[in-house]
Amino acid sequence: MFENLSERLSGVFDRLTKAGALSEDDVKTALREVRVALLEADVSLPVARNFIKAVEKKATGAAVTKSVTPGQQVVKIVHDELIAVLAGEGEPGALKIDNPPAPILMVGLQGGGKTTTTAKLAKRLKEREGKKVLMASLDVNRPAAMEQLAILGTQIGVDTLPIVKGEDPVAIAKRAKTQAGLGGYDVYMLDTAGRLSIDEELMAQVEAVRDVANPRETLLVVDGLTGQDAVHTAQNFDERIGITGVCLTRMDGDGRGGAALSMRAVTGKPIKFVGLGEKMEALETFEPDRIAGRILGMGDIVALVEKAQEVLEAEQAERMMKRFTKGQFNMNDMRMQLEQMLKMGGMEGIMGMMPGMGKMAKQAQAAGMDDKVLTRQIALIQSMTKKERANPQLLQASRKKRIAAGAGQEVSDLNKLLKMHRQMADMMKKMGKMGKGGMMKQAMK
Ligand code: GDP
Repeated sequence: MFENLSERLSGVFDRLTKAGALSEDDVKTALREVRVALLEADVSLPVARNFIKAVEKKATGAAVTKSVTPGQQVVKIVHDELIAVLAGEGEPGALKIDNPPAPILMVGLQGGGKTTTTAKLAKRLKEREGKKVLMASLDVNRPAAMEQLAILGTQIGVDTLPIVKGEDPVAIAKRAKTQAGLGGYDVYMLDTAGRLSIDEELMAQVEAVRDVANPRETLLVVDGLTGQDAVHTAQNFDERIGITGVCLTRMDGDGRGGAALSMRAVTGKPIKFVGLGEKMEALETFEPDRIAGRILGMGDIVALVEKAQEVLEAEQAERMMKRFTKGQFNMNDMRMQLEQMLKMGGMEGIMGMMPGMGKMAKQAQAAGMDDKVLTRQIALIQSMTKKERANPQLLQASRKKRIAAGAGQEVSDLNKLLKMHRQMADMMKKMGKMGKGGMMKQAMK
């Protein structure tokens, strides 16, 4: 579905990964080409621009991982940024359909694939989630559309609301709701009418249906081949109706794929599903990492860089452990530990993972060691000079005063930190002697 974009990008990166050491210019040139490739794929200009900016920033600040080339590193950064641009919150394709019967409103322009997608999704909910689904067509202007949904329903074994001639969309929506309640359905799907373009009458109708149905999900179905038009359609529907997600259809075609990349960034709404053909099975959840992988087509390099980063982290942890067991535990180490603790849910979190540290955890709690305290301690360490951090024994009265003042705290606060530092250094040494390095490593991950 992203063949063209993917080909362009892999061309750019092939050249980049083959080069030995990369200069800043190499990266700049490559990113310029990436930008052109994105624009050619019909990604909107601001999205392409922000994308490049983000990659550039990360590429400049990236820690160099040994055993991968800088070019490979850039590929990984682009890959991660693609995921960031594509991703919404939560599980891919997750729908809020707990309280039965949950209404799903399907909206979109005519010919976008709304009816097909309604049936595909119903089939999926039935087969993968064991839901009992009722579908109803609200397209009163096109009897053929109502018939089409009924036929699809029979084909996939999902019930459709019987057609009553002359009923208006709001009345049909109400009947669907009643029927869904009486029939013990988990979900009912309302397939609204589409028009060739957005018009007032259509919007007013969909709005009226929305107000009676109070949908848990409002999914816009748009043709992915229409590129930025698809994104504009989504913006329009979202402003007027409020959508919760997008289904991009015809992603099996050799479209330029730009709609997928711009959708989330421009509308703020996640793509939940992609249509990949006319068959009822041809619906996939939209998984940002898989899509990013397909766009780049460089999964091997991404995996390689990930692996190298893991190895690097493991080596760092190992080196640190070795130093700790020799009694070398300076303020830089302390700071890293405090930062880790913050990340891992505070003192209690980390101590809980280290057997034998229960007592210290209790003391820490008694001393009011919450996240705020950790942050204040980190500030104290930041207030030290490089030399002081490496050799905490240098800290005599005048230095202490300066450090405390620099962090806006009292000398007594600093003394508490130093006491804790000594306790931790002792503990590390003892643990090392006990040969329990493995535990510490685990706790630091
Ligand atoms: P609606 O007017 O929005 O309800 O559109 P339909 O559901 O009737 O779909 C219009 C046409 O697009 C039909 O021929 C569908 O089979 C086709 N279609 C829908 N989704 C896809 C898709 O993901 N890929 C392809 N290739 N065709 C699709």
